[in-house]
Amino acid sequence: MQAELVACKSYAASRGDMETEVLGTDGAGIDRAALLLRQGALVAFPTETVYGLGADATNDEAVAQIFAVKGRPSFNPLIVHLAGPFSEVSRYAVLPAAAERYLARGWPPGLTLVLPLKPRSGLSPLVTAGLDTVAIRMPAAPVAQSLLRRFGGPVAAPSANPSGRISPSRAEHVLAGLGGQIAAVIDGGPTQKGLESTILQFPGTVVLREGSFPVDDALPRATSSSDTPTAPGQLTSHYAPSGAVRLEAETAHADEWHIGFGAIAGDETLSEKGDLTEAAARLFHLLHKADERRIKKIAVAPIPDTGLGRAINDRLRRAAAPRT
Ligand code: AMP
Ligand code: MG
Repeated sequence: MQAELVACKSYAASRGDMETEVLGTDGAGIDRAALLLRQGALVAFPTETVYGLGADATNDEAVAQIFAVKGRPSFNPLIVHLAGPFSEVSRYAVLPAAAERYLARGWPPGLTLVLPLKPRSGLSPLVTAGLDTVAIRMPAAPVAQSLLRRFGGPVAAPSANPSGRISPSRAEHVLAGLGGQIAAVIDGGPTQKGLESTILQFPGTVVLREGSFPVDDALPRATSSSDTPTAPGQLTSHYAPSGAVRLEAETAHADEWHIGFGAIAGDETLSEKGDLTEAAARLFHLLHKADERRIKKIAVAPIPDTGLGRAINDRLRRAAAPRT
């Protein structure tokens, strides 16, 4: 196993541009992982379901890196992992009584709750993909618990695999998929369940995703039964700012608020340097700002359709789509 890991490690280092540290589950490993998270780096860690790709959920750039590294062509919302106690949930979300019933005997392993987001939660809007709901989970796995406690804040973590690939249930899987692109992985051996968490949305108690926590057959299911319950189509309306959006705008008309990128300065810029990670990190902030300022017309500079640019353009196309 150790030899296998070492082999993976050098393979990984030769593919990406960083050396992915393989950390132990002892105090030193957890300390190192928490420090890396605090510095805005990505750390994969085992939960009871699968390995998660963790980032500080309050750090826009760190969260943008998750999307860059996974190579997702769109921004889907991410699950926020908390250590507990339950009172921690109320910093970020409203916990309806119907949801509390599920937590009567502790947070069930493998269960994620989608709850109304509290204003001024401090979470990066990239975590919720600009939605007014947030997915929260308190993992039961001791390694995840230790890391979250040591870090002392919310950790956004999707499964630690490249987009479209199978979720990782071992550190070796993480290294094979993301080695050389993330700061570290905590090797806690195989995960207990190996299947993603069940996602329940409140209010309404709707099953968004079937997973490792068994739920009542009688509960309503979201129309899509896929792994991506919040697939773009379902959420188009939530994704739009209230103003009209015009894309590929190298210059703006007099009545437009211009969002720039790179050489196109605009009234405000997604990234003066033309950096796509920075642009992703600023995207939802700028769209929210447009709403706050009651902007009627938004023009957005062209964004290259490569890497994270694809997710940014996907989001912008949704914002620009005709409203129903
Ligand atoms: P993964 O990224 O593989 O851990 O999967 C996370 C799942 O949680 C995705 O299917 C997301 O769409 C879903 N999810 C996360 N946050 C929300 C939210 N606020 N509302 C609905 N679904 C969510
Ligand atoms: Mg996944």
